[in-house]
Amino acid sequence: MEHVTRIVIIGGGPGGYEAALVAAQLGAEVTVVDRDGLGGSAVLTDCVPSKTLIATAEVMTTFDSSYEELGIIVADDTPPLERAARVVGVDLGKVNRRVKRLAIAQSHDITQAVTRAGVTVLRGKGRLGPDGQGVDGSREVLVDREDGSTEALRADAVLIATGVHPRELPDAQPDGERILTWTQVYDLEELPRELIVVGSGVTGAEFAGAYQALGSKVTLVSSRDRVLPGEDPDAAEVLEEVFRRRGMNVMGRSRAETVKRVTARTEGADGSAADEADHVEVTLADGRVITGTHCLMAVGSIPNTAGMGLEEAGVKLNDWGQIKVDRVSRTTAPGVYAAGDCTGVFMLASVAAMQGRIAMYHVLGDAVQPLNLKTVASNVFTDPEIATVGYTAADVSCGTMDAVEVKLPLRGNPRAKMQGIRDGFVKLFCRPGTGIVVGGVVVSPRASELIHSISLAVDNNLTVEQVASAFTVYPSLSGSTAEAARQLHIRKRENTDS
Ligand SMILES: Cc1cc2nc3c(=O)[nH]c(=O)nc-3n(C[C@H](O)[C@H](O)[C@H](O)COP(=O)(O)OP(=O)(O)OC[C@H]3O[C@@H](n4cnc5c(N)ncnc54)[C@H](O)[C@@H]3O)c2cc1C
Repeated sequence: MEHVTRIVIIGGGPGGYEAALVAAQLGAEVTVVDRDGLGGSAVLTDCVPSKTLIATAEVMTTFDSSYEELGIIVADDTPPLERAARVVGVDLGKVNRRVKRLAIAQSHDITQAVTRAGVTVLRGKGRLGPDGQGVDGSREVLVDREDGSTEALRADAVLIATGVHPRELPDAQPDGERILTWTQVYDLEELPRELIVVGSGVTGAEFAGAYQALGSKVTLVSSRDRVLPGEDPDAAEVLEEVFRRRGMNVMGRSRAETVKRVTARTEGADGSAADEADHVEVTLADGRVITGTHCLMAVGSIPNTAGMGLEEAGVKLNDWGQIKVDRVSRTTAPGVYAAGDCTGVFMLASVAAMQGRIAMYHVLGDAVQPLNLKTVASNVFTDPEIATVGYTAADVSCGTMDAVEVKLPLRGNPRAKMQGIRDGFVKLFCRPGTGIVVGGVVVSPRASELIHSISLAVDNNLTVEQVASAFTVYPSLSGSTAEAARQLHIRKRENTDS
């Protein structure tokens, strides 16, 4: 009788459910164990909800920042002097209900697709059993079910894809009302009047930009010199400039130490009626105190790897609790693979999914290409967006990659002028001798869509000449990518001649 490989996947986010689909297609017997719902944090609390919220913010910024220049008249009876500065407003309760509805619908769609593919889905908390490897090489997975029972499964291979949860500071405990993590903001019914965002990485910057666009007065507290310390410095500079121009209070080199909620009771004249005024106070390391109505904490994440019997089973973790994996997603324990954010390799849904698929190709003996992070495309969903692929300015400046670069501001692009786009650029990196494109950055509205041509070039080792010779539509923002490639062709020649 043919042996069917039994696979148990703990965690049903992109790392887990994409792996499940591939493994089922390849004929394995697959079980996915998840405690919250398929789609994982990516679909239920992180990626999908934040991008849905940002979709509303995006429409508001586009309209708000360009309607006058584009000659649009707003039908508003209010006399100009009485009119609020902004002509558009938002019903946050309605926005958040839509956010949650779409997230649940997507989780439902994924569950249907996965079960249709023949995968068994178990609701519960999974961990590796104390049995270690059985004589047949199989592993035990224990599933703690919601009804208090525990189910034991045996698997020829286990994939851990349990993701992360928001990091909390001891003196800044979220209460879900005024002090919030990024998973809690979707319960707000009203727009925060004054929002303090602590943390200026991708998550902090995306939420700061979104809430500012929705109408909150935003203060962004960053412990670093500038926002988005991990991104292209020119791109981060553009974004910080735009944030400040739109009225955001960006506080660099400011480390938040404590965040507390303060409730002030004001008594009526007769001493009876009490009115409660809530606010939050953020105390910085240098003693300064800033106040707002709400505070959003975006200070990193902690891997969901504790209490899962991992180290007991021989799965090595690093100092941050992330699972150590190789480029085909193997952990240090035979038969145990890991994918996604819990490995800390590259915190993106696309990378999680790729790691999960690679694990399944490897365990099921299919052709497998080890993970190549140098072709990963990523995007910061601010306005403007910042999309990046391949080698970066940091790689070039520290000598990891020898490359020449061209940066072309969008200001000169005809389509950008027509659309009233002032901020942004296209940047390309190519090898000095061959002209092979090794990386790029696009800062613009919809940069997430424009980066794809550069991704194709990086993935296929195309030269700047090949990128320059492909037709682009006139007028279009992608014309700037072709123009940057043309300029790199000249720059590369100058470099070779000199
Ligand atoms: C605010 C925010 C916005 C983001 N936006 C983007 C974006 O635009 N694009 C992008 O590519 N990435 C984005 N990311 C990152 C993306 O969400 C993650 O990279 C992705 O979710 C990782 O997928 P995963 O499968 O590793 O884990 P997750 O999606 O976190 O899924 C893990 C699942 O495992 C479950 N689980 C945990 N422990 C157990 C257990 N013991 N037993 C059973 N189940 C368990 C969890 O409940 C969860 O359902 C964003 C992240 C954040 C925080």
